[in-house]
Amino acid sequence: MIDFEELRNRMVDEQLIPRGIKAPRVLSAMRRVPRHLFVGEELQSQAYGDYALPIGEGQTLSQPYMVGVMTEALELQGHERVLEIGTGSGYQAAVLAELAWHVYSVERIATLTMRAKRLLEELGYINISVKVFNGTLGWKEEGPYDGIIITAGAPEIPAPLIEQLKEGGRLIIPVGDRYSQILTRVVRTPEGVITTPLFPCIFVPLIGEHGWER
Ligand code: SAH
Repeated sequence: MIDFEELRNRMVDEQLIPRGIKAPRVLSAMRRVPRHLFVGEELQSQAYGDYALPIGEGQTLSQPYMVGVMTEALELQGHERVLEIGTGSGYQAAVLAELAWHVYSVERIATLTMRAKRLLEELGYINISVKVFNGTLGWKEEGPYDGIIITAGAPEIPAPLIEQLKEGGRLIIPVGDRYSQILTRVVRTPEGVITTPLFPCIFVPLIGEHGWER
């Protein structure tokens, strides 16, 4: 029997803390969310490793460190409405739901959306809404958002997402070419957006209008 809780704590202690993730709420959320349930059974023993994992449909669940960095950059305190583009397995949405008031998550592949929705319900998350949609257009009806996170790589920051960000809101997105990007943090201010490049990264492509062609 694998002790997943121990693996999870080791993931935080060996991968997240030494590389500079500090926010105590982010660290404790990642000690709680059962990452192994978000991958296929054959991958569960590897779920807490220092790498991304395949989740089907050619998509991937990001490396734990990447989830930690992106989550920390949103600076969530608990009262926020957060939009995620790229639900995938639902893992990142679960981490966000531990830290924000409500998470709205959009995924373009219906099979992934359905699987994530079912699992998140089973785990008891009542503050996550998911839908099948082209997320480069955001989820206008539920906005504006305090935080927006895009977990797929984009050629540029989709304009509709900036429009759906509150003043003072944070947006985190990998921007660049199809096979390598720069993780980028954007803050919306009354004077315009402030964009800060963080570090290089590799994500699957954001597909659709305001993203890449198929
Ligand atoms: N956050 C996910 C990782 C997702 S991988 C997790 O925790 O598991 C990126 C996801 O973005 C893929 O599932 C892909 O289908 C999705 N995606 C790509 N383009 C999209 C778009 N325009 N709208 C919504 N989802 C998109």
